Amino acid sequence: MDMSERKVRVRFAPSPTGPLHIGGVRTALYNYLFAKQHGGDLIFRIEDTDSTRFVPGAEEYIIESFKWLGIPFDEGVSFGGDHGPYRQSERRDIYRKYVQVLLERDKAYIAFDTPEELDAKRQAVENFQYDAQTRGQMRNSLTLSKEEVDALLAAGTPYVVRFKIEPGRDVVVDDIIRGEVVINSSILDDKVLYKSADDLPTYHLANIVDDHLMEVTHVIRGEEWLPSAPLHVLLYEAFGWADTMPRFAHLPLLLKPIGNGKLSKRDGDKLGFPVFPLEWHDPKTGAVSSGYREKGYLPGAVINFLALLGWNPGNDQEVLSLEEMVKLFDLSKCSKNGAKFDYVKAAWFNHQYLLQQPDAAWCPAFDKVLREAGIEATPEQEEAVVRMMKLKVIEYVDGLGNKKKRNISFASDLWPLTKFFFVAPTEFDRENDKFVRKNWKEGTAAEMQQMLTLIEGIDDFSVEGQKAVIDAWSEQTGIKPWNAWRVALVGTGQGPDMYELSAFLGKDEVMSRMKFAIETLK
Ligand code: GLU
Repeated sequence: MDMSERKVRVRFAPSPTGPLHIGGVRTALYNYLFAKQHGGDLIFRIEDTDSTRFVPGAEEYIIESFKWLGIPFDEGVSFGGDHGPYRQSERRDIYRKYVQVLLERDKAYIAFDTPEELDAKRQAVENFQYDAQTRGQMRNSLTLSKEEVDALLAAGTPYVVRFKIEPGRDVVVDDIIRGEVVINSSILDDKVLYKSADDLPTYHLANIVDDHLMEVTHVIRGEEWLPSAPLHVLLYEAFGWADTMPRFAHLPLLLKPIGNGKLSKRDGDKLGFPVFPLEWHDPKTGAVSSGYREKGYLPGAVINFLALLGWNPGNDQEVLSLEEMVKLFDLSKCSKNGAKFDYVKAAWFNHQYLLQQPDAAWCPAFDKVLREAGIEATPEQEEAVVRMMKLKVIEYVDGLGNKKKRNISFASDLWPLTKFFFVAPTEFDRENDKFVRKNWKEGTAAEMQQMLTLIEGIDDFSVEGQKAVIDAWSEQTGIKPWNAWRVALVGTGQGPDMYELSAFLGKDEVMSRMKFAIETLK
């Protein structure tokens, strides 16, 4: 069959074993981009055949994550569609049937070795592998007589079904990103495909059967699945499905921001960034892991950041809408090499996306931050502060103790820079604060007193209204009041343009802060 005639169908197939890792989000995103640019379908399948690793709430968490991120699926768990059920634990009948197909074709066999027997074998034989070399020494349907096998089955003896891998074959995985990856089948073991104990297939069998039945054309997944791919190729052949086998694309790993190796949750904890899209409350331990949503990230920024970890449009463009990404994305141009998880860049993207929004859109998040600090402000006040402060730079200390600077990227960044908008200074630290010491000298109090009288007479307290009067006075007297005025209104050398700040505070508050500074600093 000519593959190009088939409608593109891809799937994201997480196992509900915990919160979705940010790398999984990127996998889903690349599947989405690929599907949409080919007018295809994106399927959401839950691979829950490993009952020992099932975590309650994980499936709901994954669904909510994609809802927040704005990545819609065309079919699957909670979305419907005519290739269901899409939860593997609900497809037992289907898998049972296909296990039978492999057994009948002599592509698989039944094995009765108990865990204890297998352990003993591993103890006795170094690097023991269940394969063509060793299967003849084990307790399975290849070594036992038909009568023995039937008797064991009739007695309800637990068993597994193993894939009978033919040794000495070069298996070719044709990978869109990596090219041809060739593995000799002799190094593969006879993987377990089905366990009678829980009447469930293993990942390998369920994955292949479902991809086939769901008419999946491309398997786009993380690099960690590449070692399974040769086995999957052999399974397609064993079923006689080689001509509709999906094409593979194994995505590069996400790497630690600092040092070598795979990105882990610990890197996030250490350096202060989330590795999960949403906050996760571990149902067993009660531990809470931070999420991009709760940190104040915009979904578009997270998507944009992730899209560029392993792919770029080939020009310098970094801020891309989802539509642009769909147009420009090129699976074959994805990098083979791991992508460093530059979390500072993630904050940069959030800054860019926040700037794209109207200032008022920041208000609800900023309001939450203010309330937590015990401050009540009107939306108008909040919007004005956002307008004045959104382009400022914040200093922070990363998990390694390094002092760093970045743009305001989150509503919560605003608070340390904006307290003085809402709270008047109560003291001045002349001793430690160089700005105060340098700008409040002998004679300053008298100048501020003069300015106070001037301000009292200003009727139009807008930026322009104040500017006209105060600039003229400054010119006439030669007094440059700006820094001392800043000391009086802010308490230190921070803040926006003085006229903007003054207009925000209003005449009464400005006068009261000036009086206090004059009395306190003299
Ligand atoms: N269930 C696997 C996972 O958790 C799916 C791997 C694949 O896409 O084949 O990622």
